[in-house]
Amino acid sequence: MHSFAYKNGSLHCEGVNLADIAAVIGTPTFVYSKKTITEDLSEFREALSPLDAHVAYAVKACSNKAILNLMVQQGVGFDIVSGGELWRVINAGGDATLCTYAGVGKTEPEIRYALEQNIYCFNCESENELREINRIAGEMGVHAPIAVRVNPHVDAHTHKYITTGTNENKFGVDITRIEELYATIAAEMPHLRIRGLQMHIGSQLTEIRPFVEAIEKVAPVVRKFIDLYGIEFWSIGGGIGIVYDGCLASGLSAWWAEHPEHITIRGYADAIIPLLKPLGIKIIVEPGRRLTGNACAMLTTCLYEKRGEAKTFKMIDAGMNDIIRPALYEGYHEIWPVTEHRDDTIVADIVGPICESGDFQAQNRAIADVKPGEVLAEMSAGAYGFSMASTYNSRPLAAEVLVDGEKWHIIRRRQTLEEIVTGECLPGEC
Ligand SMILES: *Cc1c(COP(=O)(O)O)cnc(C)c1O
Repeated sequence: MHSFAYKNGSLHCEGVNLADIAAVIGTPTFVYSKKTITEDLSEFREALSPLDAHVAYAVKACSNKAILNLMVQQGVGFDIVSGGELWRVINAGGDATLCTYAGVGKTEPEIRYALEQNIYCFNCESENELREINRIAGEMGVHAPIAVRVNPHVDAHTHKYITTGTNENKFGVDITRIEELYATIAAEMPHLRIRGLQMHIGSQLTEIRPFVEAIEKVAPVVRKFIDLYGIEFWSIGGGIGIVYDGCLASGLSAWWAEHPEHITIRGYADAIIPLLKPLGIKIIVEPGRRLTGNACAMLTTCLYEKRGEAKTFKMIDAGMNDIIRPALYEGYHEIWPVTEHRDDTIVADIVGPICESGDFQAQNRAIADVKPGEVLAEMSAGAYGFSMASTYNSRPLAAEVLVDGEKWHIIRRRQTLEEIVTGECLPGEC
């Protein structure tokens, strides 16, 4: 569920009128609902409670300090993909020993930092990476806890840029080679400690079947590794999809009722628990998008409109530098006026100010005929939204706000122009 709804004609997040936030701090601004995040997290944990299951929130989905701190307060761990994300977790009050570290390109300084901080496990993606961690751990006189990401060869039926579990992409080690690799680790890499096995088949999966297929394929390997190496965990990755199209129009409950084929936390848990429970091993899940995606709307202001021969354009003050999902992988976001309209729907392209044809948030979209000056809410912007933002076109990073009931708090003030150029200098000055 999420906490964005019209009340008396004004779009609210929990008890806060979004127009009030825009009036005080301007746009573009990302507004997060604390209630949505904490309730969805509770639903996750409750649904998986028959297992020894642990949530490792995927930091890259949304890495604001206050959001990470909210996760810390809920006692979850973190799945990180860089030394920078580990630093962020620690800076937000998180515990490094609850961090798993994924990614295909870990550098030596990152590996040293993670070892110094005593992370829970490196989730490794290639034999050469394992040899590098072994070498560094040896030099430091420690044992590095590792798991390898197994690639189970399952088609996740998601966009090609966010599918990761087939043998045609850069992630993981093929399931046909994983047993041989673990034997090599055990025989040749004395500074590594085999702690688990990991997989992650893709992002924004809207069906349960690929998860079930992957678990069924890999479970026999897990059984073997429990016997051979005494592994203590199996991380089954993240990837649980959210609702991007339809969630506000009819209300999310109604939407779910009409789309029984779309993945839910409960459906996901019910399908995988019978497969995982008999293994008797700790299960880690790494949701990112599912915990923060629907929990945020980005506020933006309509600047101009242009009615051409073929198309109507609405120019807004948010660009692909603020949310790149539509440009990068055809991401879809609902866009609603914060003051409700009635019966004036038109078809338009919603485009940003960036000098790129790919800078659109919606194309050929049926939308309220909003006028310049009106504030819009781009929904489901909480995952891979702000965390992918840049200052392209020298546009300051947007502000971020956390709503808690009737109150709202700035959790990132809008960047200043000075801050954009911080660190730049003329030759010889730096
Ligand atoms: C990105 C990522 C996740 C999170 O994916 P979501 O689709 O946001 O749930 C989990 N695990 C790994 C290894 C990742 O790279």
